[in-house]
Amino acid sequence: MDNIEAGIMRVHREAAGVLAVEVVRYSDIPPLLFAAAGGDASAERTIGILGGFLDGVGRARRGNSILCATCRHALKRSKFACVIVRPFRDDRSEGLCLGVCARCVPHGSVADIEAKGLAFLKRVWPESRILDPGQIHVDRGHA
Ligand SMILES: [Zn+2]
Repeated sequence: MDNIEAGIMRVHREAAGVLAVEVVRYSDIPPLLFAAAGGDASAERTIGILGGFLDGVGRARRGNSILCATCRHALKRSKFACVIVRPFRDDRSEGLCLGVCARCVPHGSVADIEAKGLAFLKRVWPESRILDPGQIHVDRGHA
């Protein structure tokens, strides 16, 4: 099991099977940075996860590259989009980031990128599927 698969299994355990998936393309980064700078905690958490992943892609040396989740092309050598997978819980500061290269999603639509990320997750966790957040009722309870 590689690090990505180990990360997925950890996220899966913590999520008890319910995951939140977020697609981040290059064009999404400036608005996220502005939102984070403006105090948006959700954007700040996304930037935190994304920053660690992009740093890893940038630092990767030949032979130890971070690969596309779909085709195993080295991300450092192409444009790519990110799929952030987090346990669906109150604390979403930790998550897993996957990269999907531009060769695998030539049109770069969010739906295509999400589908590629989901296909990768299904290899590790066959029951994976994306839920619309509106389908999930979170009852915080009252004492
Ligand atoms: Zn690819």
